[in-house]
Amino acid sequence: MTTPPTAIIDSEAVTGAGRPIPVVDPANEEVIAEINEAEDELVDRAVLSARAAFERGDWRCMSVEDRQKVLRACADAIDAAADEIADIECSNTGIPYSAIRNGQIVRSANNFRFFADYIGQMVSELYEQESDYLTFVRREPKGVAGLISPWNSPLALGSMKVVSAIAFGNSCVLKPAEHAPLGLTRLIEVIQGAGLPPGVVNLVNGYGASTGDRLVRHPDIDCISFTGGTRTGRAIMAAAGEHLKPSIMELGGKSANIVFDDADFEQALDGALIGIFSNNGQQCLAGSRILVQRGIAKDFIEAMVERTRKVRVGDPRDPATEIGPLANRNHYNHVMSFVPEGLDNDARVLVGGERAPGFDKGFYFSPTVAEVDSNSHRLCQEEIFGPFASLMVFDTDEEAYRIANESRFGLVGYAWSRSIERIMAAQERISAGTIWCNTPMMRDLHAPFGGVRESGVGAEGGRSAEMFYTLQKTVSIPRRPLKLRKLGA
Ligand code: NAD
Repeated sequence: MTTPPTAIIDSEAVTGAGRPIPVVDPANEEVIAEINEAEDELVDRAVLSARAAFERGDWRCMSVEDRQKVLRACADAIDAAADEIADIECSNTGIPYSAIRNGQIVRSANNFRFFADYIGQMVSELYEQESDYLTFVRREPKGVAGLISPWNSPLALGSMKVVSAIAFGNSCVLKPAEHAPLGLTRLIEVIQGAGLPPGVVNLVNGYGASTGDRLVRHPDIDCISFTGGTRTGRAIMAAAGEHLKPSIMELGGKSANIVFDDADFEQALDGALIGIFSNNGQQCLAGSRILVQRGIAKDFIEAMVERTRKVRVGDPRDPATEIGPLANRNHYNHVMSFVPEGLDNDARVLVGGERAPGFDKGFYFSPTVAEVDSNSHRLCQEEIFGPFASLMVFDTDEEAYRIANESRFGLVGYAWSRSIERIMAAQERISAGTIWCNTPMMRDLHAPFGGVRESGVGAEGGRSAEMFYTLQKTVSIPRRPLKLRKLGA
C-alpha cells in the first residue's frame, strides 16, 4: 500500500495529518493507498503558494516562447512517465490499461502541446475609431484558478484544466476526485520537474465537501473550473457566486444518439456501442439514449443486443478487455439501482442488467441495453453514468428531435444519416453544446466543449479557455501629443 502526498505545494510533496482517505482498486476491492486529507491549513497554504507565484510574476511575465518551452517540457515529462502513470491509474480507476496508456496519457501530454501552440498564435484587438488614438485590448491572466476534477477520466480532464489555466500565465490549485486521485497526483508531481516555477501548479487531495469547499470559497481564488455532477456543480456555482467568482461548470449528460433509417448501419452500430461503452460507460458525453427509426429498429436492436452480449468485460490489465469494473462501490450501487427500472411495464432489459458473471470481487457490471417506451421514463431522464443504454424507437425526424431535446441536460447529440439534409437539420435542431454527425466522440481542442441547460455553463477548449482564464484590459494611447483643455489655466 502506498501513501501518496496529501498535497503538492511550491513544487514539494507534502504529507498532511488529516483523516485518511482509502483508495480502492475497483477490480479487486483492495485498498491500494491511503491519502491523508488536506485540511484547511494545507488548502490555505496551497492557495497562498499559487498567489505568491502569481504576484512574483516569474511565470506570468515569462516570454511566450519560454512558457511554450516549459509547457512542451511538461508534455515530454508526461510521455516519459507514461508507463508508470498508466499503471497507477489503471489500478485506481479500473479503466482498461490500453485506453489509459494509448488514450488518456497521450491526450494529457497533447493538452500541454496544444496550449503551447495556442499561446503562440494569440492575437489582440486594436481599435482606431478615434483618429488621435490607438486603443488596444490586452489579455492578462486572471490570477489563481481553483480546479476541481471528477473521477471518470482523471488524467485527461485534470491535465486539461491545469494547462488551460497556466498557459495564459495563471497559477492554480487542483483538487482531484477523492476516489481516483493517484494518477493525477503523480502526473502533477512529474510535471514539477519540467521548469514550472514553484507554486504555479499546486494540488490538494481531499473530499469535496471539506477540501473542495475550502478551495472554492478561498478569497485568494479568482476563478473556478469544475467538472463533475450537476448537483455538485450547482452547489459550487452558488458558493462561487457568493464571492462573485467566475466559474466554468462542465456537468452531466444524457445525450441522444439518433440513428435515422438511411444511416450507414454498421457505422451507426459501431458508433452507438463506442458511444455508450467506452471508458467503462462512465462518460459525461455518452450517447446514452439511443433513438432508432422504426424502419431499421428491429434489425438495429437485434444487432445491438448481439454485439453488447459479446463486449468483453474483464480485468482492466488484460489487453482483450473492453470494459473494466465501475469506479467504486457507491457508483456500482448507483448503476445497479437502475436495473429494476428496466423491468417495469414501460421498459425491458434486453441484455445485461446484472453483475457481470464470473467475478467474485470487483465492481463489474454487465453491459446493458434496455428498450424503453417513453422518454419520460427514469431510464431516459437520469444520468446512469455506466455501461447502460436506453433505446427508443421513433417514427418521424420531428419526433426524434423532440425526444432528443426533452431533457434537462444538453451536453452532446449524435446523428447518423447518409443524407446531408438530415445531418444539417440534425445539427441545427438538437439542442446541445456539441453535435457529432456520423461519428462518435471527436474532440478538436480548438473548439469549445461545454453543455447547455443542466449540462453546464461555459466551455473548455482553446478560445473558450482564453476567454475564461484571461481578463480583458483596454488601453488607450494618443498617437501624438494631445491638445488638452487647460483647466484652471
Ligand atoms: P462529483 O460531482 O461527485 O465530484 C466531482 C468533484 O467535485 C470531486 O473532486 C469532488 O470531490 C468535488 N466536490 C464534491 N462536492 C464539492 C463541494 N461541495 N465543493 C467543492 N468540490 C466538491 O462528480 P463525479 O461523480 O466525480 O463525476 C461524475 C460526474 O461528472 C457525472 O455527472 C459526469 O457527467 C460529470 N462529468 C462531466 C464532464 C463534462 O465535461 N461535462 C466530464 C466528465 C464528467
